[in-house]
Amino acid sequence: MSAARAQTLAEKVVERELDALLVSKLVNVRWLTGFTGSNAAAVVGPRARRFVTDFRYLTQAADQLDPEWEREIATDLLQRVADGIGDEPLRLGFDDEHLSVRLHGKLAEALPDNVELVAAGGIVESLRAVKDAGEVDAIRAAAQLADAALEDVLAGGLSRRTEREIALEIEFAIRRRGAQGVSFSPIVAAAEHGALPHAEPRDVQIPSGTLVVVDWGAQLDGYASDCTRTFATGELDPRDRAIYELVLNAQQEALAAVRPGPTGREVDAVARAIIEAGGHGEHFGHGLGHGVGLEVHEGPRLSKQGNDVLAAGNIVTVEPGVYVPGAVGVRIEDLVLITEEGNEVLSALPKELRIVE
Ligand code: ZN
Ligand code: ZN
Repeated sequence: MSAARAQTLAEKVVERELDALLVSKLVNVRWLTGFTGSNAAAVVGPRARRFVTDFRYLTQAADQLDPEWEREIATDLLQRVADGIGDEPLRLGFDDEHLSVRLHGKLAEALPDNVELVAAGGIVESLRAVKDAGEVDAIRAAAQLADAALEDVLAGGLSRRTEREIALEIEFAIRRRGAQGVSFSPIVAAAEHGALPHAEPRDVQIPSGTLVVVDWGAQLDGYASDCTRTFATGELDPRDRAIYELVLNAQQEALAAVRPGPTGREVDAVARAIIEAGGHGEHFGHGLGHGVGLEVHEGPRLSKQGNDVLAAGNIVTVEPGVYVPGAVGVRIEDLVLITEEGNEVLSALPKELRIVE
Protein backbone atom coordinates (compact mmCIF):
# COMPACT_ATOMS: atom_id res chain seq x y z
CA MET A 1 0.00 0.00 0.00
CA SER A 2 2.56 2.57 1.09
CA ALA A 3 4.82 1.73 -1.88
CA ALA A 4 2.06 2.66 -4.33
CA ARG A 5 1.22 5.86 -2.48
CA ALA A 6 4.86 6.94 -2.36
CA GLN A 7 5.16 6.25 -6.10
CA THR A 8 2.06 8.37 -6.85
CA LEU A 9 3.40 11.15 -4.64
CA ALA A 10 6.82 11.02 -6.35
CA GLU A 11 5.09 11.57 -9.70
CA LYS A 12 3.25 14.62 -8.30
CA VAL A 13 6.54 15.94 -6.95
CA VAL A 14 8.06 15.79 -10.44
CA GLU A 15 4.98 17.50 -11.94
CA ARG A 16 5.57 20.38 -9.52
CA GLU A 17 9.19 20.61 -10.73
CA LEU A 18 10.57 19.53 -7.38
CA ASP A 19 13.27 16.95 -6.66
CA ALA A 20 11.75 15.87 -3.37
CA LEU A 21 9.01 16.77 -0.91
CA LEU A 22 9.42 16.97 2.85
CA VAL A 23 6.25 15.55 4.42
CA SER A 24 6.12 16.99 7.94
CA LYS A 25 2.44 16.79 8.90
CA LEU A 26 1.94 13.58 10.88
CA VAL A 27 -1.38 12.58 9.33
CA ASN A 28 0.20 12.88 5.88
CA VAL A 29 3.13 10.72 7.00
CA ARG A 30 0.63 8.16 8.23
CA TRP A 31 -1.29 8.13 4.95
CA LEU A 32 1.96 7.83 3.02
CA THR A 33 3.76 5.19 5.06
CA GLY A 34 1.21 3.46 7.29
CA PHE A 35 3.13 4.61 10.40
CA THR A 36 0.76 5.33 13.30
CA GLY A 37 3.20 6.75 15.87
CA SER A 38 3.21 10.33 17.13
CA ASN A 39 6.44 11.71 15.69
CA ALA A 40 7.81 11.28 12.17
CA ALA A 41 8.69 12.96 8.88
CA ALA A 42 9.33 11.66 5.39
CA VAL A 43 11.15 12.80 2.26
CA VAL A 44 9.80 11.51 -1.06
CA GLY A 45 11.01 12.06 -4.61
CA PRO A 46 11.84 9.96 -7.65
CA ARG A 47 14.99 8.75 -5.88
CA ALA A 48 14.04 9.30 -2.24
CA ARG A 49 12.02 7.20 0.23
CA ARG A 50 13.32 8.51 3.55
CA PHE A 51 11.47 8.11 6.82
CA VAL A 52 12.67 9.66 10.07
CA THR A 53 11.31 9.00 13.54
CA ASP A 54 12.68 8.92 17.06
CA PHE A 55 14.05 6.07 19.14
CA ARG A 56 10.69 5.20 20.75
CA TYR A 57 9.37 4.03 17.38
CA LEU A 58 12.32 1.95 16.20
CA THR A 59 10.40 -1.34 16.36
CA GLN A 60 6.99 0.02 15.38
CA ALA A 61 8.43 1.66 12.26
CA ALA A 62 10.15 -1.59 11.26
CA ASP A 63 6.81 -3.40 11.61
CA GLN A 64 4.63 -0.86 9.83
CA LEU A 65 6.72 0.40 6.92
CA ASP A 66 7.33 -1.30 3.59
CA PRO A 67 11.00 -2.31 3.16
CA GLU A 68 11.56 0.26 0.40
CA TRP A 69 11.58 3.01 3.06
CA GLU A 70 14.99 3.99 4.34
CA ARG A 71 14.35 4.29 8.08
CA GLU A 72 16.36 6.76 10.14
CA ILE A 73 16.27 7.40 13.89
CA ALA A 74 17.02 10.83 15.34
CA THR A 75 16.10 13.10 18.24
CA ASP A 76 15.80 16.15 15.99
CA LEU A 77 13.87 15.04 12.90
CA LEU A 78 14.41 18.13 10.75
CA GLN A 79 18.13 18.22 11.56
CA ARG A 80 18.32 14.58 10.45
CA VAL A 81 16.41 15.40 7.23
CA ALA A 82 18.93 18.17 6.52
CA ASP A 83 21.97 16.05 7.38
CA GLY A 84 20.91 13.28 5.01
CA ILE A 85 20.13 15.48 2.03
CA GLY A 86 23.40 15.06 0.06
CA ASP A 87 25.26 17.70 -1.94
CA GLU A 88 23.55 17.62 -5.34
CA PRO A 89 21.59 20.80 -6.24
CA LEU A 90 18.05 20.15 -5.13
CA ARG A 91 14.62 21.78 -5.01
CA LEU A 92 12.95 20.55 -1.82
CA GLY A 93 9.24 21.20 -1.36
CA PHE A 94 7.84 21.77 2.12
CA ASP A 95 4.29 22.07 3.46
CA ASP A 96 3.80 25.82 3.88
CA GLU A 97 0.27 25.22 5.25
CA HIS A 98 1.70 23.24 8.14
CA LEU A 99 5.40 23.86 8.90
CA SER A 100 5.66 26.69 11.42
CA VAL A 101 7.67 29.81 10.68
CA ARG A 102 10.05 28.80 13.48
CA LEU A 103 10.67 25.30 12.13
CA HIS A 104 10.98 26.61 8.59
CA GLY A 105 13.71 28.98 9.77
CA LYS A 106 15.47 26.18 11.58
CA LEU A 107 15.28 23.89 8.57
CA ALA A 108 16.56 26.59 6.22
CA GLU A 109 19.53 27.11 8.52
CA ALA A 110 20.29 23.40 8.82
CA LEU A 111 20.13 22.68 5.07
CA PRO A 112 23.27 22.96 2.93
CA ASP A 113 23.51 25.76 0.33
CA ASN A 114 22.72 23.42 -2.56
CA VAL A 115 19.11 23.07 -1.39
CA GLU A 116 16.34 25.46 -2.40
CA LEU A 117 13.27 25.27 -0.15
CA VAL A 118 10.04 25.67 -2.14
CA ALA A 119 6.55 26.20 -0.67
CA ALA A 120 4.46 23.21 -1.78
CA GLY A 121 1.55 22.67 0.60
CA GLY A 122 -1.49 20.57 -0.24
CA ILE A 123 0.10 17.92 -2.50
CA VAL A 124 -0.49 15.00 -0.13
CA GLU A 125 -3.90 16.38 0.83
CA SER A 126 -5.00 16.36 -2.82
CA LEU A 127 -4.07 12.68 -3.06
CA ARG A 128 -5.75 11.88 0.27
CA ALA A 129 -9.03 13.34 -1.05
CA VAL A 130 -9.49 10.25 -3.27
CA LYS A 131 -9.99 7.20 -1.08
CA ASP A 132 -8.96 3.67 -1.99
CA ALA A 133 -11.10 0.62 -1.24
CA GLY A 134 -9.51 -0.01 2.17
CA GLU A 135 -10.13 3.58 3.24
CA VAL A 136 -13.75 3.44 2.07
CA ASP A 137 -14.26 0.27 4.12
CA ALA A 138 -12.75 1.91 7.21
CA ILE A 139 -14.94 5.01 6.91
CA ARG A 140 -18.05 2.94 6.17
CA ALA A 141 -17.36 0.86 9.30
CA ALA A 142 -16.83 4.02 11.38
CA ALA A 143 -20.15 5.42 10.12
CA GLN A 144 -22.02 2.19 10.91
CA LEU A 145 -20.52 2.05 14.37
CA ALA A 146 -21.48 5.68 15.02
CA ASP A 147 -25.07 5.04 13.88
CA ALA A 148 -25.38 2.05 16.21
CA ALA A 149 -23.86 3.99 19.12
CA LEU A 150 -26.36 6.81 18.71
CA GLU A 151 -29.26 4.33 18.69
CA ASP A 152 -27.93 2.95 21.99
CA VAL A 153 -28.22 6.43 23.48
CA LEU A 154 -31.57 7.36 21.91
CA ALA A 155 -33.11 4.24 23.47
CA GLY A 156 -32.83 6.10 26.80
CA GLY A 157 -34.65 9.18 25.48
CA LEU A 158 -33.49 12.79 25.10
CA SER A 159 -35.71 15.04 27.19
CA ARG A 160 -35.20 15.59 30.92
CA ARG A 161 -31.50 14.71 30.55
CA THR A 162 -28.84 17.33 30.02
CA GLU A 163 -27.05 18.02 26.78
CA ARG A 164 -23.79 17.11 28.49
CA GLU A 165 -25.15 13.75 29.70
CA ILE A 166 -26.24 12.85 26.18
CA ALA A 167 -22.87 13.91 24.74
CA LEU A 168 -21.00 11.82 27.32
CA GLU A 169 -23.20 8.81 26.65
CA ILE A 170 -22.51 9.11 22.94
CA GLU A 171 -18.76 9.10 23.63
CA PHE A 172 -19.13 6.10 25.89
CA ALA A 173 -21.31 4.16 23.42
CA ILE A 174 -18.82 4.83 20.63
CA ARG A 175 -15.96 3.47 22.73
CA ARG A 176 -17.99 0.54 24.00
CA ARG A 177 -18.77 -0.50 20.44
CA GLY A 178 -15.07 -0.74 19.71
CA ALA A 179 -14.01 2.58 18.22
CA GLN A 180 -10.70 4.21 19.17
CA GLY A 181 -12.73 7.20 20.26
CA VAL A 182 -14.87 9.98 18.93
CA SER A 183 -13.70 11.77 15.79
CA PHE A 184 -14.66 15.06 17.50
CA SER A 185 -16.49 16.01 20.70
CA PRO A 186 -20.20 15.39 20.07
CA ILE A 187 -22.49 18.38 19.72
CA VAL A 188 -25.83 18.11 21.50
CA ALA A 189 -27.78 21.36 21.33
CA ALA A 190 -31.45 21.85 22.14
CA ALA A 191 -33.88 24.61 21.23
CA GLU A 192 -32.25 28.05 20.87
CA HIS A 193 -28.82 26.58 21.66
CA GLY A 194 -29.09 24.64 18.40
CA ALA A 195 -28.76 27.96 16.62
CA LEU A 196 -25.02 27.82 17.37
CA PRO A 197 -23.53 25.58 14.66
CA HIS A 198 -20.64 24.52 16.95
CA ALA A 199 -22.53 24.55 20.25
CA GLU A 200 -20.83 23.18 23.39
CA PRO A 201 -23.13 20.79 25.28
CA ARG A 202 -24.46 22.50 28.43
CA ASP A 203 -25.49 21.26 31.87
CA VAL A 204 -29.03 22.16 30.91
CA GLN A 205 -31.99 19.80 30.69
CA ILE A 206 -33.37 19.20 27.23
CA PRO A 207 -37.00 20.38 27.20
CA SER A 208 -39.81 18.49 25.52
CA GLY A 209 -41.44 19.81 22.37
CA THR A 210 -38.29 21.22 20.86
CA LEU A 211 -35.55 20.35 18.36
CA VAL A 212 -32.18 18.87 19.37
CA VAL A 213 -29.19 18.93 17.03
CA VAL A 214 -26.86 15.95 17.52
CA ASP A 215 -23.59 15.93 15.55
CA TRP A 216 -21.31 13.01 16.28
CA GLY A 217 -18.67 10.73 14.77
CA ALA A 218 -16.47 7.75 15.51
CA GLN A 219 -12.80 7.12 14.83
CA LEU A 220 -11.92 3.61 13.71
CA ASP A 221 -8.55 2.42 12.35
CA GLY A 222 -7.54 6.08 12.18
CA TYR A 223 -10.50 7.05 9.98
CA ALA A 224 -13.30 9.41 10.98
CA SER A 225 -17.03 9.50 10.48
CA ASP A 226 -19.25 12.58 10.75
CA CYS A 227 -23.05 12.74 10.83
CA THR A 228 -25.79 15.03 12.18
CA ARG A 229 -29.44 14.42 12.91
CA THR A 230 -31.94 16.83 14.43
CA PHE A 231 -34.60 15.18 16.59
CA ALA A 232 -37.87 16.43 18.04
CA THR A 233 -38.56 15.83 21.72
CA GLY A 234 -42.34 16.00 21.19
CA GLU A 235 -44.92 17.89 19.19
CA LEU A 236 -43.27 20.91 17.53
CA ASP A 237 -44.62 24.34 16.83
CA PRO A 238 -45.26 24.94 13.11
CA ARG A 239 -42.28 27.30 12.73
CA ASP A 240 -39.79 24.62 13.86
CA ARG A 241 -41.49 21.95 11.79
CA ALA A 242 -41.28 24.16 8.67
CA ILE A 243 -37.58 24.85 9.21
CA TYR A 244 -36.94 21.13 9.58
CA GLU A 245 -38.73 20.35 6.30
CA LEU A 246 -36.84 23.15 4.52
CA VAL A 247 -33.44 21.83 5.64
CA LEU A 248 -34.42 18.26 4.78
CA ASN A 249 -35.48 19.29 1.29
CA ALA A 250 -32.21 21.22 0.77
CA GLN A 251 -30.22 18.24 2.04
CA GLN A 252 -31.94 15.76 -0.25
CA GLU A 253 -31.67 17.97 -3.34
CA ALA A 254 -27.98 18.66 -2.68
CA LEU A 255 -27.39 14.95 -2.12
CA ALA A 256 -28.93 14.21 -5.51
CA ALA A 257 -26.38 16.59 -7.08
CA VAL A 258 -23.35 14.86 -5.53
CA ARG A 259 -21.49 12.94 -8.25
CA PRO A 260 -18.24 13.25 -10.23
CA GLY A 261 -18.13 16.44 -12.32
CA PRO A 262 -19.49 19.47 -10.51
CA THR A 263 -17.35 21.64 -8.25
CA GLY A 264 -17.97 21.79 -4.51
CA ARG A 265 -19.32 25.31 -5.07
CA GLU A 266 -21.95 24.09 -7.54
CA VAL A 267 -23.32 21.48 -5.13
CA ASP A 268 -23.26 24.01 -2.27
CA ALA A 269 -25.33 26.35 -4.46
CA VAL A 270 -28.10 23.74 -4.85
CA ALA A 271 -28.79 23.68 -1.10
CA ARG A 272 -28.24 27.43 -0.73
CA ALA A 273 -30.83 28.28 -3.40
CA ILE A 274 -33.49 26.19 -1.65
CA ILE A 275 -32.78 27.69 1.77
CA GLU A 276 -32.75 31.20 0.30
CA ALA A 277 -36.07 30.58 -1.44
CA GLY A 278 -37.43 29.44 1.94
CA GLY A 279 -36.49 32.83 3.41
CA HIS A 280 -33.56 31.62 5.52
CA GLY A 281 -30.58 32.45 3.31
CA GLU A 282 -28.93 34.56 6.01
CA HIS A 283 -29.38 31.69 8.51
CA PHE A 284 -27.18 29.26 6.56
CA GLY A 285 -23.76 30.74 7.26
CA HIS A 286 -21.46 27.78 6.74
CA GLY A 287 -20.46 25.65 3.78
CA LEU A 288 -22.52 22.66 2.67
CA GLY A 289 -19.87 20.08 3.50
CA HIS A 290 -16.28 18.89 3.63
CA GLY A 291 -14.17 15.84 2.91
CA VAL A 292 -13.70 13.23 5.65
CA GLY A 293 -10.88 10.70 6.00
CA LEU A 294 -7.98 10.45 8.42
CA GLU A 295 -9.10 13.92 9.47
CA VAL A 296 -12.71 14.85 10.13
CA HIS A 297 -12.30 18.01 8.07
CA GLU A 298 -10.27 17.64 4.87
CA GLY A 299 -10.66 18.18 1.14
CA PRO A 300 -12.63 18.65 -0.99
CA ARG A 301 -14.75 21.48 0.32
CA LEU A 302 -18.39 21.93 -0.62
CA SER A 303 -18.77 25.66 -0.12
CA LYS A 304 -18.66 28.99 -1.91
CA GLN A 305 -14.86 28.54 -1.95
CA GLY A 306 -15.04 24.94 -3.22
CA ASN A 307 -13.21 25.13 -6.56
CA ASP A 308 -12.17 21.47 -6.70
CA VAL A 309 -14.09 19.26 -9.12
CA LEU A 310 -15.73 16.38 -7.24
CA ALA A 311 -14.35 12.97 -8.21
CA ALA A 312 -15.16 9.32 -7.64
CA GLY A 313 -13.52 8.21 -4.42
CA ASN A 314 -14.13 11.47 -2.56
CA ILE A 315 -15.96 11.05 0.74
CA VAL A 316 -17.79 14.22 1.72
CA THR A 317 -20.47 15.44 4.07
CA VAL A 318 -23.69 17.10 2.90
CA GLU A 319 -24.88 19.18 5.84
CA PRO A 320 -27.06 22.21 5.24
CA GLY A 321 -28.41 23.97 8.30
CA VAL A 322 -30.68 26.81 9.33
CA TYR A 323 -29.77 28.70 12.51
CA VAL A 324 -32.23 31.31 13.76
CA PRO A 325 -30.47 33.19 16.58
CA GLY A 326 -32.30 32.99 19.88
CA ALA A 327 -34.89 30.60 18.44
CA VAL A 328 -33.85 27.28 16.94
CA GLY A 329 -31.33 25.41 14.78
CA VAL A 330 -31.61 22.48 12.39
CA ARG A 331 -28.78 20.65 10.65
CA ILE A 332 -29.00 17.36 8.75
CA GLU A 333 -25.70 15.79 7.70
CA ASP A 334 -24.91 12.65 5.75
CA LEU A 335 -21.55 11.09 4.94
CA VAL A 336 -21.38 10.30 1.23
CA LEU A 337 -19.03 8.34 -1.01
CA ILE A 338 -18.85 9.70 -4.56
CA THR A 339 -18.97 6.81 -7.04
CA GLU A 340 -18.57 6.67 -10.83
CA GLU A 341 -22.37 6.59 -11.18
CA GLY A 342 -23.29 9.10 -8.48
CA ASN A 343 -23.02 8.50 -4.78
CA GLU A 344 -23.56 6.09 -1.93
CA VAL A 345 -24.70 7.43 1.44
CA LEU A 346 -22.67 5.84 4.25
CA SER A 347 -24.75 7.17 7.16
CA ALA A 348 -27.93 5.17 7.41
CA LEU A 349 -30.18 6.71 10.10
CA PRO A 350 -33.55 7.94 8.73
CA LYS A 351 -34.02 11.63 8.06
CA GLU A 352 -37.79 12.00 8.33
CA LEU A 353 -38.47 14.00 11.48
CA ARG A 354 -38.20 11.59 14.36
CA ILE A 355 -39.67 12.16 17.78
CA VAL A 356 -37.45 10.97 20.64
CA GLU A 357 -38.96 11.95 23.96
ZN1 ZN B 1 -20.78 16.90 11.74
ZN1 ZN C 1 -19.33 17.84 9.16
